[in-house]
Amino acid sequence: MKLEYTPRQKAFRKEIRAWLKKHVPKKPLETFDTPAGFEQHRQWEATLFSGRWSAVTWPKDMGGRGADLIEWLIFEEEYWAAGAPLRVNQNGVFLLAPTLMEFGTAEQKARFLPRMAAGQDIWAQGWSEPGAGSDLAAIRCKAEREGDEYVINGQKTWSTRAVWADWLFGMFRSDPNSQRHQGLTFLLLPLMARGITIRPIKQLNGLTGFAEIFFDNVRVPVANRLGDEGAGWSIAMATAGFERGLMLRSPARFQQTAKNLIALYQAHRKTADQDPSLRDAVLKSWMDAEAYTLATYATACRLARGGQIGAEASTNKIVWSELDLLMHETAMRILGARGELMPSAPDAGDLGNWLDGFLFAQAGPIYAGTNEIQRNIIAERMLGLPRA
Ligand SMILES: Cc1cc2nc3c(=O)[nH]c(=O)nc-3n(C[C@H](O)[C@H](O)[C@H](O)COP(=O)(O)OP(=O)(O)OC[C@H]3O[C@@H](n4cnc5c(N)ncnc54)[C@H](O)[C@@H]3O)c2cc1C
Repeated sequence: MKLEYTPRQKAFRKEIRAWLKKHVPKKPLETFDTPAGFEQHRQWEATLFSGRWSAVTWPKDMGGRGADLIEWLIFEEEYWAAGAPLRVNQNGVFLLAPTLMEFGTAEQKARFLPRMAAGQDIWAQGWSEPGAGSDLAAIRCKAEREGDEYVINGQKTWSTRAVWADWLFGMFRSDPNSQRHQGLTFLLLPLMARGITIRPIKQLNGLTGFAEIFFDNVRVPVANRLGDEGAGWSIAMATAGFERGLMLRSPARFQQTAKNLIALYQAHRKTADQDPSLRDAVLKSWMDAEAYTLATYATACRLARGGQIGAEASTNKIVWSELDLLMHETAMRILGARGELMPSAPDAGDLGNWLDGFLFAQAGPIYAGTNEIQRNIIAERMLGLPRA
């Protein structure tokens, strides 16, 4: 077997590398969990779009490059290696867009996709509610049909980026007499709509990465419905597949963290080597990041041959979230008390990024479906074990 990139893939890598070298901001952007940082990241999405790099896997006529999964992996490797900004429109570009392409009407695609690709509309995801997280089918937030509108009442929570985002995609109970997965409808709505109140939630790092959303007689036109009334669950499960599958967290992100961890270890080797288990943890981090990368390439090749990702998405989610925790915990152990410096601390330098990453890594086993739920899926659908 000859494992090598094709000339076309090599040219693709060269092109993105050169573009990033020219365009990645020399000074890191402010975090997107502040109003100024959010706008800087929106501007960066527009810059990416100007080079046709904001949505590489989308079809060309929708502003993408029609890149296949291997090209996407290459794009991500170059993107992370270049230290390019985090993607503020991840919910839109990687989650909603594939769902829209599969289930949206031609009008909806034309209306939403170009603005999304250009960073003009930043999207938030509105699924979770108090009492409907892991048990998503317990959604209670209502969308009652009145003529050619839905009237929404209720609450969503934990909605990432919703504090400054423009649009929300969410699932609502359109049939008040329905139970569980039935009677749910997938709607797209502007967060500026009358009757919406957004209450920011403070994260561990003191910033507001997500929000509660309250709906008080919010009117949404039927034209903003994705798919049929009552078909929301199966559409949302397609989105969840994209989320847990390949697109949410590319292996390049973790390969880059592993490289940074090795550099950190080398810079602190004298003290770090006093505890041999630290060296083992650094090595394991690097090996696991490489293994995850190779496994993802194998999956991408399988999908290219017409395969499905299925419950394997759940194993991916567990692997990357636990790897992220291991890497950041190891960095904290190497840094000792200095690891507690916030990025904003005067003496933090680059070290503050480790604390930020460590705090965010705690959320990895929770968002996009908790790891306990992923383990249930693996047990039932991959291993065929009986339901607990
Ligand atoms: C950083 C972050 C960003 C998020 N962004 C969004 C967003 O943009 N939009 C959105 O809609 N939601 C978002 N969420 C919410 C996320 O999807 C939920 O937190 C998650 O689904 C868990 O739901 P819950 O918090 O209600 O916990 P619960 O469902 O109450 O779970 C509590 C605990 O019980 C365990 N548990 C529950 N049921 C079972 C079971 N059947 N078997 C075994 N264990 C079980 C869980 O694993 C967990 O440990 C985000 C969460 C985080 C942390």
